[in-house]
Amino acid sequence: MKFKSVRFALSAKNAAACPEWEMPEIALIGRSNVGKSTLINLLTSKENLAKVSATPGKTQLLNFFVIDEQWALVDLPGYGFAKVAKDQKIDFNEAVGDYLSGRDNLMTVFVLIDSRLPPQRIDLDFLHWLGGCSVPFSLIFTKTDKQSTGKTKASIETFLQATDAFLPDRPGVFTSSTKDREGRMEILRYIRARVEA
Ligand code: GDP
Repeated sequence: MKFKSVRFALSAKNAAACPEWEMPEIALIGRSNVGKSTLINLLTSKENLAKVSATPGKTQLLNFFVIDEQWALVDLPGYGFAKVAKDQKIDFNEAVGDYLSGRDNLMTVFVLIDSRLPPQRIDLDFLHWLGGCSVPFSLIFTKTDKQSTGKTKASIETFLQATDAFLPDRPGVFTSSTKDREGRMEILRYIRARVEA
């Protein structure tokens, strides 16, 4: 699957600064170092696309990339660094909260999880919060090349058992390895279906 054009559009610091277009959007979020930038580069087949998001001053912004002038990939800041309402324990960017809970053209969200780690509190807390939003979401377990398939499977099951406590339905699951280019086609097919829906 090849795209004709992939371009960085803009960075937004809050919901009001997000683009006014009606293009469908697909967002990615995860803890820092989970492999989000590398995955964005893999999905778009652009070596340095996500570098834009990593440039100083942009890591806490919502970064919008336009694909074939038809849909947008939105690179959300990782959670774990910003304040949020006092009654919520989750520690993520307020702009991200506004975006995820109020963006009409957001079709789906991918939450990236490091396949090698036991369930992390911050990921579970975030998913608990996201489960209360109306937007559909799936999980992408990253870096699968770093361990055996059996270990990845076990890790996914352990994670899903942890989310069973607060998610009524198990979320969709993808795996990715940017080293082996694993997961790209499956994820892109899923995105295409969401964008064309
Ligand atoms: P981000 O902070 O979530 O954007 O994470 P990066 O994309 O910068 O990745 C963090 C580190 O993990 C980098 O050293 C990547 O090369 C490495 N990495 C990311 N994805 C994979 C993967 O699928 N396999 C392997 N072996 N390394 C990965």
